[in-house]
Amino acid sequence: MSMDTVFELSPKKVEYIKFINGKNGPVKTNNIAAGFGVDPSTITKTIVELADEGLLVYVPYHGVSLSVKGKITAEFLIKRHRILALALTHFGFSHEQACLEVSRFESFVSKEAIDQMCRAMGHPNKGICGDITHDDGCLRI
Ligand SMILES: [Zn+2]
Ligand SMILES: [Zn+2]
Repeated sequence: MSMDTVFELSPKKVEYIKFINGKNGPVKTNNIAAGFGVDPSTITKTIVELADEGLLVYVPYHGVSLSVKGKITAEFLIKRHRILALALTHFGFSHEQACLEVSRFESFVSKEAIDQMCRAMGHPNKGICGDITHDDGCLRI
């Protein structure tokens, strides 16, 4: 998986990456399952896929944590959410509405689209649910 396509993750994978990113240190599969209120057996397949894609690394006895590639991906996933949510507030959405609505479709928006929106919005630094970071993608002219 190249760095370009790695951002095309299913909604479920996006949620798992964000969840693991939000934890300090490795996370056990059981804890991920508990976090989403599902049976551990239902998430194992996805965890294995994420590891195969090079986004997760296994830490013996401690579960999984994000690889360097996984961390870069997580940063993008967070930025994508914040750019889209900020954009919706320009159409009169409340902060709460914007976050909720974006969570319904954010997985389907490409990095190119987010980079373009970031440029068009003048590279905002403050999102409604956290700071927005910029990278070679959005800063390219
Ligand atoms: Zn939000
Ligand atoms: Zn930017």
